[in-house]
Amino acid sequence: MADKCDPKGGGWCPSMERNLGEATPRTKGLAVLMLTDVKTGQQQLRGPYYKQKASDQGTMFNFCPWCGVDLTPMHAGINL
Ligand SMILES: [Zn+2]
Repeated sequence: MADKCDPKGGGWCPSMERNLGEATPRTKGLAVLMLTDVKTGQQQLRGPYYKQKASDQGTMFNFCPWCGVDLTPMHAGINL
């Protein structure tokens, strides 16, 4: 486990890792946005987001609230 989040390699700091532990896209709280390329089937990690309610669209994190690393490099190509 890394000390800090790694937006290029996709690793998380211990606090982010712990908080993402129970995350699913269908419940409130933290989840991770994955995009699937329909041509290749490859999945791309695009960063964590937070939902206040299960029905929320969610808010992407620009930086990790625990280690402070800038996560915007993960967002390339998404319209936020
Ligand atoms: Zn972090």
